[in-house]
Amino acid sequence: MSAYEPVIGVEIHVQLSTRTKMFCGCELSFGDPPNTHTCPVCLAHPGVLPVVNEEAVRRALLIGVALGCEVAPRSIFHRKNYFYPDLPKAYQISQFDIPICGRGEFIAIRDDGSEIRVGITRAHLEEDAAKLTHAGGRRVGAAGSVVDFNRGGTPLVEIVTEPDLRSASDAAVFLRQLRQTLLFLGVSDCSMEEGSMRADANVSIRPVGADQFGTKTELKNMNSFRFLERGIDAEIARQTAILGSGGQVTQETVHFEPETGAITSLRSKEESHDYRYFPEPDLVPLAPDPSWVAELRAGLPELPLPLRRRMVDEMGLTTEDAEVLTDSPALVAYFMEVAAAVDPKAAANWIRGELRAQLREAGQDPWESTVTPARMAALVGLVESGAVSVPAAKEVLAEVISSGTEPADVVEAKGLGQISDEDELAAIVAEIVAANPVQAQQLRDGKDKVIGFFVGKAMAQTGGRADPQAVQRLVRAAVLGQ
Ligand code: ADP
Ligand code: ZN
Ligand code: MG
Repeated sequence: MSAYEPVIGVEIHVQLSTRTKMFCGCELSFGDPPNTHTCPVCLAHPGVLPVVNEEAVRRALLIGVALGCEVAPRSIFHRKNYFYPDLPKAYQISQFDIPICGRGEFIAIRDDGSEIRVGITRAHLEEDAAKLTHAGGRRVGAAGSVVDFNRGGTPLVEIVTEPDLRSASDAAVFLRQLRQTLLFLGVSDCSMEEGSMRADANVSIRPVGADQFGTKTELKNMNSFRFLERGIDAEIARQTAILGSGGQVTQETVHFEPETGAITSLRSKEESHDYRYFPEPDLVPLAPDPSWVAELRAGLPELPLPLRRRMVDEMGLTTEDAEVLTDSPALVAYFMEVAAAVDPKAAANWIRGELRAQLREAGQDPWESTVTPARMAALVGLVESGAVSVPAAKEVLAEVISSGTEPADVVEAKGLGQISDEDELAAIVAEIVAANPVQAQQLRDGKDKVIGFFVGKAMAQTGGRADPQAVQRLVRAAVLGQ
Protein backbone atom coordinates (compact mmCIF):
# COMPACT_ATOMS: atom_id res chain seq x y z
CA MET A 1 0.00 0.00 0.00
CA SER A 2 1.20 3.46 -0.90
CA ALA A 3 1.38 6.04 1.87
CA TYR A 4 -0.38 8.45 -0.48
CA GLU A 5 -3.94 8.71 -1.68
CA PRO A 6 -4.58 10.01 -5.20
CA VAL A 7 -7.18 12.75 -5.73
CA ILE A 8 -8.56 13.25 -9.22
CA GLY A 9 -11.04 15.61 -10.83
CA VAL A 10 -11.78 15.66 -14.54
CA GLU A 11 -12.82 18.21 -17.11
CA ILE A 12 -14.60 16.81 -20.13
CA HIS A 13 -15.23 18.61 -23.40
CA VAL A 14 -18.09 17.24 -25.44
CA GLN A 15 -18.72 18.41 -29.00
CA LEU A 16 -22.45 18.59 -29.54
CA SER A 17 -23.56 16.89 -32.74
CA THR A 18 -25.93 19.67 -33.73
CA ARG A 19 -26.49 20.45 -37.40
CA THR A 20 -24.94 23.91 -37.16
CA LYS A 21 -22.32 25.78 -35.14
CA MET A 22 -22.77 27.50 -31.78
CA PHE A 23 -23.10 31.08 -32.98
CA CYS A 24 -23.54 30.95 -36.77
CA GLY A 25 -25.39 28.91 -39.38
CA CYS A 26 -22.36 27.00 -40.72
CA GLU A 27 -22.88 23.25 -40.78
CA LEU A 28 -20.71 20.98 -38.68
CA SER A 29 -18.54 19.03 -41.01
CA PHE A 30 -16.24 16.47 -39.47
CA GLY A 31 -13.99 15.10 -42.20
CA ASP A 32 -14.90 17.59 -44.93
CA PRO A 33 -12.16 19.44 -46.87
CA PRO A 34 -10.58 22.14 -44.68
CA ASN A 35 -12.10 25.62 -44.54
CA THR A 36 -15.25 24.76 -46.49
CA HIS A 37 -17.66 25.47 -43.60
CA THR A 38 -16.89 29.00 -42.56
CA CYS A 39 -18.61 32.38 -42.63
CA PRO A 40 -17.87 35.91 -41.49
CA VAL A 41 -19.09 35.06 -37.96
CA CYS A 42 -16.89 32.05 -37.28
CA LEU A 43 -13.98 33.69 -39.11
CA ALA A 44 -14.40 36.79 -36.90
CA HIS A 45 -14.80 39.41 -39.58
CA PRO A 46 -15.29 42.91 -38.17
CA GLY A 47 -18.81 43.88 -37.20
CA VAL A 48 -20.43 40.45 -37.14
CA LEU A 49 -22.69 39.32 -34.32
CA PRO A 50 -23.15 35.88 -32.77
CA VAL A 51 -26.57 34.23 -32.52
CA VAL A 52 -27.08 31.41 -30.01
CA ASN A 53 -27.92 27.96 -31.39
CA GLU A 54 -31.12 26.92 -29.60
CA GLU A 55 -30.51 23.22 -30.19
CA ALA A 56 -27.13 23.52 -28.48
CA VAL A 57 -28.85 25.09 -25.48
CA ARG A 58 -31.40 22.29 -25.47
CA ARG A 59 -28.64 19.68 -25.44
CA ALA A 60 -26.70 21.45 -22.69
CA LEU A 61 -29.90 21.47 -20.63
CA LEU A 62 -30.47 17.81 -21.36
CA ILE A 63 -26.98 17.00 -20.07
CA GLY A 64 -27.58 19.11 -16.99
CA VAL A 65 -30.92 17.52 -16.26
CA ALA A 66 -29.48 14.01 -16.72
CA LEU A 67 -26.61 14.80 -14.34
CA GLY A 68 -28.98 16.18 -11.75
CA CYS A 69 -27.52 19.66 -12.09
CA GLU A 70 -29.19 22.80 -10.90
CA VAL A 71 -30.19 24.69 -14.03
CA ALA A 72 -29.43 28.38 -13.77
CA PRO A 73 -32.57 30.47 -14.30
CA ARG A 74 -30.32 33.02 -15.97
CA SER A 75 -26.79 32.36 -17.16
CA ILE A 76 -24.48 34.52 -19.21
CA PHE A 77 -21.67 34.18 -21.73
CA HIS A 78 -18.21 35.55 -21.16
CA ARG A 79 -15.28 36.29 -23.42
CA LYS A 80 -12.21 34.26 -22.55
CA ASN A 81 -9.33 36.17 -24.09
CA TYR A 82 -6.21 34.57 -25.44
CA PHE A 83 -4.21 34.77 -28.60
CA TYR A 84 -3.64 31.64 -30.61
CA PRO A 85 -3.95 30.95 -34.33
CA ASP A 86 -6.91 28.61 -33.78
CA LEU A 87 -9.00 31.45 -32.38
CA PRO A 88 -9.67 34.19 -34.95
CA LYS A 89 -11.56 36.48 -32.54
CA ALA A 90 -8.68 36.22 -30.05
CA TYR A 91 -11.32 35.24 -27.50
CA GLN A 92 -13.51 32.22 -27.03
CA ILE A 93 -17.13 32.72 -26.10
CA SER A 94 -17.57 30.60 -22.99
CA GLN A 95 -19.30 30.77 -19.65
CA PHE A 96 -17.58 31.79 -16.46
CA ASP A 97 -19.19 32.55 -13.13
CA ILE A 98 -22.78 31.65 -14.03
CA PRO A 99 -22.82 28.46 -16.13
CA ILE A 100 -26.05 27.13 -17.60
CA CYS A 101 -25.81 24.01 -15.38
CA GLY A 102 -24.56 24.09 -11.80
CA ARG A 103 -23.98 21.40 -9.22
CA GLY A 104 -25.04 17.84 -9.87
CA GLU A 105 -23.91 14.28 -9.29
CA PHE A 106 -23.10 11.21 -11.34
CA ILE A 107 -22.98 7.70 -9.94
CA ALA A 108 -20.84 5.18 -11.77
CA ILE A 109 -20.69 1.49 -10.92
CA ARG A 110 -17.49 -0.52 -10.62
CA ASP A 111 -17.27 -4.10 -11.89
CA ASP A 112 -17.84 -5.40 -8.36
CA GLY A 113 -21.13 -3.47 -8.17
CA SER A 114 -19.89 -0.77 -5.78
CA GLU A 115 -20.67 2.89 -6.44
CA ILE A 116 -18.40 5.73 -7.44
CA ARG A 117 -20.15 9.01 -6.62
CA VAL A 118 -18.75 11.96 -8.49
CA GLY A 119 -19.92 15.49 -7.81
CA ILE A 120 -20.48 17.57 -10.91
CA THR A 121 -19.24 21.10 -10.35
CA ARG A 122 -20.78 22.56 -13.49
CA ALA A 123 -21.52 22.04 -17.14
CA HIS A 124 -21.25 25.05 -19.37
CA LEU A 125 -21.66 25.96 -23.02
CA GLU A 126 -18.87 27.28 -25.19
CA GLU A 127 -17.49 27.13 -28.70
CA ASP A 128 -14.64 24.98 -29.98
CA ALA A 129 -11.50 26.47 -31.49
CA ALA A 130 -10.32 25.74 -35.03
CA LYS A 131 -8.10 22.75 -35.70
CA LEU A 132 -4.37 23.21 -36.02
CA THR A 133 -2.26 20.67 -37.82
CA HIS A 134 1.46 20.81 -37.28
CA ALA A 135 3.52 19.60 -40.25
CA GLY A 136 5.66 16.84 -38.87
CA GLY A 137 3.06 16.05 -36.24
CA ARG A 138 4.51 17.97 -33.33
CA ARG A 139 3.98 21.45 -32.05
CA VAL A 140 7.58 21.96 -31.12
CA GLY A 141 9.98 21.76 -34.06
CA ALA A 142 7.24 21.54 -36.70
CA ALA A 143 8.15 22.87 -40.13
CA GLY A 144 4.86 24.73 -40.22
CA SER A 145 1.24 24.67 -39.06
CA VAL A 146 -2.04 24.94 -40.93
CA VAL A 147 -5.47 25.92 -39.63
CA ASP A 148 -8.84 24.36 -40.49
CA PHE A 149 -11.63 26.69 -39.42
CA ASN A 150 -14.35 24.09 -40.05
CA ARG A 151 -14.15 23.06 -36.40
CA GLY A 152 -14.06 26.66 -35.12
CA GLY A 153 -17.37 27.50 -33.49
CA THR A 154 -18.55 23.91 -32.95
CA PRO A 155 -20.84 23.83 -29.87
CA LEU A 156 -19.13 22.39 -26.83
CA VAL A 157 -20.30 21.49 -23.38
CA GLU A 158 -17.58 21.40 -20.76
CA ILE A 159 -18.37 19.22 -17.77
CA VAL A 160 -16.23 19.76 -14.67
CA THR A 161 -16.21 17.32 -11.77
CA GLU A 162 -15.34 17.75 -8.13
CA PRO A 163 -12.04 16.16 -7.03
CA ASP A 164 -13.96 13.07 -5.92
CA LEU A 165 -12.13 10.28 -7.75
CA ARG A 166 -9.50 8.27 -5.91
CA SER A 167 -7.89 6.05 -8.54
CA ALA A 168 -7.06 5.97 -12.22
CA SER A 169 -9.32 2.98 -12.76
CA ASP A 170 -12.25 4.75 -11.07
CA ALA A 171 -11.63 7.72 -13.36
CA ALA A 172 -11.78 5.43 -16.38
CA VAL A 173 -14.96 3.71 -15.15
CA PHE A 174 -16.55 7.10 -14.50
CA LEU A 175 -15.63 8.48 -17.92
CA ARG A 176 -16.80 5.38 -19.77
CA GLN A 177 -20.17 5.47 -18.04
CA LEU A 178 -20.53 9.22 -18.42
CA ARG A 179 -19.83 8.77 -22.12
CA GLN A 180 -22.49 6.10 -22.30
CA THR A 181 -25.01 8.40 -20.67
CA LEU A 182 -24.19 11.15 -23.17
CA LEU A 183 -24.65 8.66 -26.00
CA PHE A 184 -28.05 7.68 -24.59
CA LEU A 185 -28.99 11.33 -24.49
CA GLY A 186 -28.07 11.57 -28.17
CA VAL A 187 -26.22 14.84 -27.66
CA SER A 188 -22.81 13.92 -29.06
CA ASP A 189 -20.93 11.21 -30.96
CA CYS A 190 -18.53 11.09 -28.00
CA SER A 191 -15.66 9.73 -30.05
CA MET A 192 -12.41 9.94 -28.12
CA GLU A 193 -10.37 9.17 -31.25
CA GLU A 194 -12.06 11.79 -33.37
CA GLY A 195 -11.93 14.31 -30.56
CA SER A 196 -15.66 14.80 -30.09
CA MET A 197 -15.10 13.84 -26.45
CA ARG A 198 -11.88 14.99 -24.79
CA ALA A 199 -10.91 14.59 -21.16
CA ASP A 200 -8.31 16.35 -19.02
CA ALA A 201 -7.47 14.84 -15.65
CA ASN A 202 -6.39 16.88 -12.64
CA VAL A 203 -4.22 14.77 -10.38
CA SER A 204 -2.77 15.24 -6.93
CA ILE A 205 -1.76 12.98 -4.06
CA ARG A 206 -1.89 13.44 -0.31
CA PRO A 207 -0.76 11.40 2.68
CA VAL A 208 -3.41 8.82 3.55
CA GLY A 209 -5.64 10.34 6.21
CA ALA A 210 -4.80 13.96 5.37
CA ASP A 211 -7.76 16.25 4.86
CA GLN A 212 -6.04 18.88 2.73
CA PHE A 213 -5.51 18.28 -0.95
CA GLY A 214 -2.04 18.31 -2.44
CA THR A 215 -0.88 20.42 -5.38
CA LYS A 216 -2.44 19.19 -8.61
CA THR A 217 -1.16 18.85 -12.12
CA GLU A 218 -3.33 18.76 -15.21
CA LEU A 219 -2.95 15.88 -17.63
CA LYS A 220 -4.09 17.21 -20.99
CA ASN A 221 -6.28 15.82 -23.71
CA MET A 222 -6.05 12.09 -23.52
CA ASN A 223 -7.64 10.51 -26.57
CA SER A 224 -8.54 7.10 -25.17
CA PHE A 225 -9.74 5.74 -21.84
CA ARG A 226 -6.85 3.33 -21.70
CA PHE A 227 -4.25 6.07 -22.20
CA LEU A 228 -6.06 8.22 -19.69
CA GLU A 229 -5.91 5.48 -17.07
CA ARG A 230 -2.25 4.76 -17.81
CA GLY A 231 -1.45 8.48 -17.84
CA ILE A 232 -3.03 9.08 -14.45
CA ASP A 233 -1.20 6.10 -12.99
CA ALA A 234 2.09 7.36 -14.41
CA GLU A 235 1.43 10.82 -12.98
CA ILE A 236 0.54 9.37 -9.57
CA ALA A 237 3.81 7.40 -9.63
CA ARG A 238 5.76 10.52 -10.61
CA GLN A 239 4.24 12.60 -7.81
CA THR A 240 4.73 9.77 -5.30
CA ALA A 241 8.42 9.64 -6.20
CA ILE A 242 8.75 13.42 -5.83
CA LEU A 243 7.08 13.53 -2.40
CA GLY A 244 8.85 10.35 -1.32
CA SER A 245 12.22 12.00 -1.91
CA GLY A 246 11.23 15.10 0.01
CA GLY A 247 10.44 17.24 -3.03
CA GLN A 248 7.36 19.28 -3.94
CA VAL A 249 4.93 18.91 -6.82
CA THR A 250 4.70 22.00 -9.02
CA GLN A 251 1.32 23.03 -10.35
CA GLU A 252 1.65 22.61 -14.10
CA THR A 253 0.18 21.05 -17.19
CA VAL A 254 1.70 17.71 -18.10
CA HIS A 255 1.56 15.40 -21.06
CA PHE A 256 1.63 11.61 -21.18
CA GLU A 257 3.49 9.81 -23.96
CA PRO A 258 1.62 6.54 -24.51
CA GLU A 259 4.54 5.10 -26.50
CA THR A 260 7.13 5.51 -23.76
CA GLY A 261 4.90 5.84 -20.70
CA ALA A 262 6.75 9.05 -19.84
CA ILE A 263 5.24 12.23 -18.38
CA THR A 264 6.56 15.44 -19.87
CA SER A 265 5.93 18.91 -18.55
CA LEU A 266 4.26 21.58 -20.67
CA ARG A 267 4.68 24.16 -17.91
CA SER A 268 1.94 26.45 -19.10
CA LYS A 269 -0.71 26.49 -16.41
CA GLU A 270 -2.70 29.69 -16.76
CA GLU A 271 -4.72 31.26 -13.99
CA SER A 272 -8.23 32.35 -14.79
CA HIS A 273 -7.27 36.03 -14.38
CA ASP A 274 -4.84 35.59 -17.27
CA TYR A 275 -7.85 35.28 -19.55
CA ARG A 276 -9.34 38.64 -18.67
CA TYR A 277 -12.86 37.19 -18.63
CA PHE A 278 -15.60 39.73 -19.15
CA PRO A 279 -19.30 39.43 -20.03
CA GLU A 280 -19.97 39.00 -23.75
CA PRO A 281 -21.68 42.26 -24.71
CA ASP A 282 -23.10 40.86 -27.96
CA LEU A 283 -25.27 38.18 -26.34
CA VAL A 284 -28.24 38.40 -24.04
CA PRO A 285 -28.40 36.11 -20.97
CA LEU A 286 -29.75 32.59 -21.34
CA ALA A 287 -32.97 32.27 -19.40
CA PRO A 288 -34.52 28.94 -20.35
CA ASP A 289 -38.25 28.75 -19.73
CA PRO A 290 -38.76 26.54 -16.64
CA SER A 291 -41.50 24.66 -18.46
CA TRP A 292 -38.98 23.81 -21.19
CA VAL A 293 -36.57 22.44 -18.59
CA ALA A 294 -39.38 20.47 -16.95
CA GLU A 295 -40.34 19.06 -20.33
CA LEU A 296 -36.75 17.94 -20.99
CA ARG A 297 -36.57 16.36 -17.55
CA ALA A 298 -39.83 14.49 -18.09
CA GLY A 299 -38.72 13.32 -21.53
CA LEU A 300 -35.34 11.93 -20.49
CA PRO A 301 -34.71 8.45 -21.90
CA GLU A 302 -34.03 5.63 -19.45
CA LEU A 303 -30.35 6.16 -18.68
CA PRO A 304 -27.76 3.37 -18.57
CA LEU A 305 -27.37 3.25 -14.80
CA PRO A 306 -31.02 2.84 -13.74
CA LEU A 307 -31.51 0.65 -16.76
CA ARG A 308 -28.70 -1.66 -15.64
CA ARG A 309 -30.17 -1.82 -12.16
CA ARG A 310 -33.52 -2.78 -13.60
CA MET A 311 -31.91 -5.44 -15.79
CA VAL A 312 -30.24 -7.01 -12.76
CA ASP A 313 -33.05 -6.60 -10.22
CA GLU A 314 -36.07 -7.28 -12.40
CA MET A 315 -34.86 -9.21 -15.41
CA GLY A 316 -32.45 -11.62 -13.72
CA LEU A 317 -29.34 -10.54 -15.61
CA THR A 318 -25.83 -10.44 -14.16
CA THR A 319 -24.05 -7.10 -13.69
CA GLU A 320 -21.79 -8.05 -16.55
CA ASP A 321 -24.73 -8.90 -18.85
CA ALA A 322 -26.25 -5.54 -18.07
CA GLU A 323 -23.04 -3.69 -18.74
CA VAL A 324 -22.44 -5.38 -22.08
CA LEU A 325 -26.04 -4.94 -23.21
CA THR A 326 -26.18 -1.24 -22.37
CA ASP A 327 -23.20 -0.53 -24.56
CA SER A 328 -25.33 1.52 -26.94
CA PRO A 329 -28.95 2.66 -27.17
CA ALA A 330 -29.31 0.55 -30.32
CA LEU A 331 -28.19 -2.59 -28.50
CA VAL A 332 -30.53 -1.87 -25.61
CA ALA A 333 -33.45 -1.49 -28.00
CA TYR A 334 -32.51 -4.76 -29.70
CA PHE A 335 -32.19 -6.66 -26.44
CA MET A 336 -35.43 -5.27 -25.03
CA GLU A 337 -37.36 -6.39 -28.06
CA VAL A 338 -36.01 -9.93 -27.78
CA ALA A 339 -36.43 -9.99 -24.00
CA ALA A 340 -40.06 -8.98 -24.31
CA ALA A 341 -40.77 -12.22 -26.17
CA VAL A 342 -38.61 -14.78 -24.34
CA ASP A 343 -36.87 -15.28 -20.99
CA PRO A 344 -34.67 -12.16 -20.61
CA LYS A 345 -31.72 -14.10 -19.19
CA ALA A 346 -31.75 -16.52 -22.11
CA ALA A 347 -32.02 -13.58 -24.50
CA ALA A 348 -29.05 -11.92 -22.78
CA ASN A 349 -26.94 -15.07 -23.00
CA TRP A 350 -27.64 -15.55 -26.69
CA ILE A 351 -27.14 -11.94 -27.70
CA ARG A 352 -23.99 -11.42 -25.64
CA GLY A 353 -22.52 -14.75 -26.53
CA GLU A 354 -23.26 -16.54 -29.73
CA LEU A 355 -24.89 -13.72 -31.69
CA ARG A 356 -22.08 -11.24 -31.11
CA ALA A 357 -19.45 -13.92 -31.72
CA GLN A 358 -20.96 -14.98 -35.02
CA LEU A 359 -21.56 -11.41 -36.18
CA ARG A 360 -18.07 -10.30 -35.28
CA GLU A 361 -16.64 -12.06 -38.30
CA ALA A 362 -19.01 -10.18 -40.57
CA GLY A 363 -18.23 -6.99 -38.68
CA GLN A 364 -21.94 -6.42 -38.12
CA ASP A 365 -23.95 -5.17 -35.18
CA PRO A 366 -27.06 -7.16 -34.20
CA TRP A 367 -29.50 -4.40 -35.14
CA GLU A 368 -28.09 -4.07 -38.65
CA SER A 369 -27.91 -7.81 -39.30
CA THR A 370 -30.43 -10.20 -40.83
CA VAL A 371 -31.08 -11.50 -37.31
CA THR A 372 -33.99 -9.24 -36.49
CA PRO A 373 -35.14 -9.20 -32.86
CA ALA A 374 -38.11 -11.31 -33.93
CA ARG A 375 -35.82 -13.96 -35.46
CA MET A 376 -33.53 -13.92 -32.43
CA ALA A 377 -36.53 -14.37 -30.15
CA ALA A 378 -37.83 -17.19 -32.34
CA LEU A 379 -34.50 -19.00 -32.11
CA VAL A 380 -34.23 -18.57 -28.33
CA GLY A 381 -37.81 -19.81 -28.13
CA LEU A 382 -36.96 -22.95 -30.09
CA VAL A 383 -34.15 -23.73 -27.64
CA GLU A 384 -36.28 -22.94 -24.60
CA SER A 385 -39.06 -25.23 -25.74
CA GLY A 386 -36.62 -28.04 -26.42
CA ALA A 387 -37.35 -28.07 -30.15
CA VAL A 388 -33.66 -27.66 -30.98
CA SER A 389 -30.52 -28.37 -28.97
CA VAL A 390 -28.03 -25.63 -28.23
CA PRO A 391 -25.41 -26.85 -30.73
CA ALA A 392 -28.08 -27.15 -33.42
CA ALA A 393 -29.36 -23.67 -32.60
CA LYS A 394 -25.87 -22.28 -33.19
CA GLU A 395 -25.93 -23.84 -36.61
CA VAL A 396 -29.38 -22.39 -37.25
CA LEU A 397 -28.12 -18.97 -36.24
CA ALA A 398 -25.26 -19.17 -38.73
CA GLU A 399 -27.77 -19.97 -41.45
CA VAL A 400 -30.10 -17.14 -40.44
CA ILE A 401 -27.13 -14.77 -40.62
CA SER A 402 -26.00 -15.91 -44.03
CA SER A 403 -29.37 -16.35 -45.70
CA GLY A 404 -31.85 -14.30 -43.70
CA THR A 405 -34.16 -17.31 -43.41
CA GLU A 406 -36.59 -17.75 -40.51
CA PRO A 407 -35.11 -19.99 -37.77
CA ALA A 408 -38.01 -22.45 -37.88
CA ASP A 409 -37.57 -22.85 -41.64
CA VAL A 410 -33.85 -23.53 -41.21
CA VAL A 411 -34.59 -26.20 -38.60
CA GLU A 412 -37.09 -27.78 -40.96
CA ALA A 413 -34.91 -27.60 -44.08
CA LYS A 414 -31.76 -28.91 -42.37
CA GLY A 415 -33.48 -31.49 -40.19
CA LEU A 416 -31.98 -29.94 -37.08
CA GLY A 417 -34.95 -30.54 -34.85
CA GLN A 418 -34.04 -32.04 -31.51
CA ILE A 419 -34.70 -35.74 -31.10
CA SER A 420 -36.89 -35.85 -28.09
CA ASP A 421 -38.67 -39.00 -29.13
CA GLU A 422 -37.88 -41.19 -26.11
CA ASP A 423 -37.91 -44.49 -28.00
CA GLU A 424 -35.53 -43.24 -30.66
CA LEU A 425 -33.18 -41.83 -28.03
CA ALA A 426 -33.44 -44.89 -25.82
CA ALA A 427 -32.30 -47.07 -28.73
CA ILE A 428 -29.30 -44.82 -29.34
CA VAL A 429 -28.41 -44.80 -25.63
CA ALA A 430 -28.69 -48.60 -25.38
CA GLU A 431 -26.26 -48.93 -28.27
CA ILE A 432 -23.75 -46.54 -26.71
CA VAL A 433 -23.96 -48.19 -23.28
CA ALA A 434 -23.38 -51.62 -24.81
CA ALA A 435 -20.36 -50.36 -26.75
CA ASN A 436 -18.74 -48.81 -23.66
CA PRO A 437 -18.85 -51.28 -20.79
CA VAL A 438 -15.88 -49.73 -18.96
CA GLN A 439 -17.59 -46.36 -18.61
CA ALA A 440 -20.87 -48.05 -17.74
CA GLN A 441 -19.10 -49.84 -14.87
CA GLN A 442 -17.58 -46.56 -13.70
CA LEU A 443 -21.03 -45.06 -13.55
CA ARG A 444 -22.25 -48.03 -11.54
CA ASP A 445 -19.26 -47.53 -9.20
CA GLY A 446 -20.56 -44.04 -8.45
CA LYS A 447 -18.37 -41.98 -10.78
CA ASP A 448 -21.19 -39.68 -11.83
CA LYS A 449 -19.05 -37.44 -14.01
CA VAL A 450 -18.83 -40.15 -16.63
CA ILE A 451 -22.40 -39.26 -17.58
CA GLY A 452 -20.89 -36.46 -19.67
CA PHE A 453 -19.05 -39.04 -21.72
CA PHE A 454 -22.31 -40.69 -22.71
CA VAL A 455 -23.99 -37.40 -23.50
CA GLY A 456 -21.02 -36.49 -25.71
CA LYS A 457 -21.31 -39.81 -27.57
CA ALA A 458 -25.04 -39.32 -28.08
CA MET A 459 -24.49 -35.80 -29.38
CA ALA A 460 -21.82 -36.97 -31.79
CA GLN A 461 -24.00 -39.75 -33.07
CA THR A 462 -27.02 -37.50 -33.63
CA GLY A 463 -25.20 -34.48 -35.01
CA GLY A 464 -26.01 -32.51 -31.88
CA ARG A 465 -29.72 -33.20 -32.16
CA ALA A 466 -30.18 -35.27 -29.01
CA ASP A 467 -31.81 -33.58 -26.02
CA PRO A 468 -28.96 -33.72 -23.46
CA GLN A 469 -31.30 -33.84 -20.46
CA ALA A 470 -33.21 -36.74 -21.91
CA VAL A 471 -29.96 -38.55 -22.72
CA GLN A 472 -28.77 -38.19 -19.12
CA ARG A 473 -32.01 -39.57 -17.84
CA LEU A 474 -31.99 -42.49 -20.28
CA VAL A 475 -28.35 -43.39 -19.52
CA ARG A 476 -29.12 -43.57 -15.80
CA ALA A 477 -32.14 -45.67 -16.56
CA ALA A 478 -30.17 -48.04 -18.78
CA VAL A 479 -27.11 -48.41 -16.55
CA LEU A 480 -28.42 -47.93 -13.04
CA GLY A 481 -31.99 -49.01 -13.60
CA GLN A 482 -33.19 -45.70 -12.05
P1 ADP B 1 -8.21 25.56 -11.74
O1 ADP B 1 -8.44 26.85 -11.06
O2 ADP B 1 -6.81 25.16 -11.82
O3 ADP B 1 -8.95 25.45 -13.03
P2 ADP B 1 -10.34 24.26 -10.37
O4 ADP B 1 -10.51 24.39 -8.91
O5 ADP B 1 -11.22 25.04 -11.27
O6 ADP B 1 -8.84 24.48 -10.74
O7 ADP B 1 -10.53 22.73 -10.71
C1 ADP B 1 -10.31 22.22 -11.96
C2 ADP B 1 -10.41 20.72 -11.87
O8 ADP B 1 -9.40 20.23 -11.02
C3 ADP B 1 -11.70 20.21 -11.29
O9 ADP B 1 -12.08 19.03 -11.99
C4 ADP B 1 -11.36 19.87 -9.86
O10 ADP B 1 -12.13 18.81 -9.35
C5 ADP B 1 -9.94 19.43 -9.98
N1 ADP B 1 -9.14 19.67 -8.78
C6 ADP B 1 -9.11 20.78 -8.03
N2 ADP B 1 -8.24 20.65 -7.03
C7 ADP B 1 -7.67 19.43 -7.15
C8 ADP B 1 -6.66 18.72 -6.44
N3 ADP B 1 -6.03 19.23 -5.40
N4 ADP B 1 -6.36 17.48 -6.87
C9 ADP B 1 -6.96 16.95 -7.94
N5 ADP B 1 -7.89 17.57 -8.65
C10 ADP B 1 -8.25 18.80 -8.27
ZN1 ZN C 1 -19.82 30.23 -39.55
MG1 MG D 1 -11.04 26.21 -13.20
